[in-house]
Amino acid sequence: MDAPQAVRARQQERYLEIDWGEGHVSVYPYGYLREHCECAVCRDEWTGERRGSGAVTGQDLTITSVELVGNYAIRIRWSDGHDTGLYTWEHLRSLCRCTRCAPIGKSDETE
Ligand SMILES: [Zn+2]
Ligand SMILES: [Zn+2]
Repeated sequence: MDAPQAVRARQQERYLEIDWGEGHVSVYPYGYLREHCECAVCRDEWTGERRGSGAVTGQDLTITSVELVGNYAIRIRWSDGHDTGLYTWEHLRSLCRCTRCAPIGKSDETE
């Protein structure tokens, strides 16, 4: 999986924007990203069950920094101090909800 061309945290709009190149841009609202954190704190390694409360997706949560990890992932530091979650490119791609990645069956629009 290739690294994206750019990763931008849009603090005003509260979403993370990832530009994969070739016109493919993914947008991840902060709450959505945090909900999909795969770290051992958020997700039980054995059962796959999510831990903690949904309260964490609260309105005040922001990203304080995004750090590249090798060439395969980013580490997101949240305003509540949570920083153990790694988001691999692969994971981020699978979370993308754009029409290209997650076509909505309802629409019959042709490209
Ligand atoms: Zn986590
Ligand atoms: Zn996409």
